[in-house]
Amino acid sequence: MYQIIDGKAISTSLKEELKEKVTALKEQGIEPCLAVILVGEDPASTVYVNNKKKACEFIGIKSLSYELPETTTQDELLALIEKLNADDSVNGILVQLPLPKHIDEDAVIGAISPLKDVDGFHPQSVGSLCIGRKGFVSCTPAGIIELLKRSNVEIEGKECVIIGRSNIVGKPMALLMLRENATVTVCHSRTKNLKEVAKRADILIVAIGKPKMITAEYVKEGAVVIDVGIHRLEGKKLCGDVDFDDVAPHTSAITPVPGGVGPMTIAMLMKNCVDSVIFE
Ligand code: NDP
Repeated sequence: MYQIIDGKAISTSLKEELKEKVTALKEQGIEPCLAVILVGEDPASTVYVNNKKKACEFIGIKSLSYELPETTTQDELLALIEKLNADDSVNGILVQLPLPKHIDEDAVIGAISPLKDVDGFHPQSVGSLCIGRKGFVSCTPAGIIELLKRSNVEIEGKECVIIGRSNIVGKPMALLMLRENATVTVCHSRTKNLKEVAKRADILIVAIGKPKMITAEYVKEGAVVIDVGIHRLEGKKLCGDVDFDDVAPHTSAITPVPGGVGPMTIAMLMKNCVDSVIFE
């Protein structure tokens, strides 16, 4: 029988722990503060931003909300970031992506102070992760490490195969698994014999962006499978990159969609916000 890795329950425990930490910080007169910037009115981004604000409220983190019109220029956005970088009462800065097409995302990410980069996307944060220095780590891969550890999945010495090499999931995931002493293989759209490579994995992490692409043929008997993908099917049901019903019986543990990796992403953002208070 396989274990379902319950991201909802694990993220709730993590948020409870953070709430206690924030209460203790407030007793010392310290109030963590996250500035959240949304440009435009993309419906999905609006939902994400509202969820982040709700999580802040639950934990006791102050959130400052900047909802800017679609017509905001890059210079205006950069000026706001500069102001927030200089504001000592602001610990974390989050710019919701994607940005409107006329704004260069790299320029915006690069403008956020690495000391306030709670999304972990700044090149300095990525570089620090790469060479094992302190810095913020991208929330989804950091959440997966937390899920594995809190589900008592041993990582050290295990064969880990990651499918996907994006800057926000696949690449930082590979670096984190390496830091945990796994033997890491990263696959992508040009990988040959993907099924054979994936079948080597003790821990298979899938971040492809293709609904239910990973079937039992890709999975070694008894592997742990982490599904990062999230897709809304017709009829509004959610599914991941893994065909759960086909794959689950062959695993020792697996994350569901919804209720697996997703809830951990916001919880880790909150953790980064709390850490940002003491990060220097
Ligand atoms: P990207 O589209 O940026 O990256 C997808 C990766 O998958 C690329 O590296 C691509 O390879 C690889 N890939 C695509 N097709 C194949 C294939 N047929 N075989 C092997 N590799 C393939 O996606 P993200 O990393 O941003 O996201 C992946 C999924 O995770 C999405 O469904 C997204 O919605 C979800 N997601 C969920 C989050 C959460 O909180 N739960 C957070 C972030 C993402 P190549 O580089 O060669 O193009």
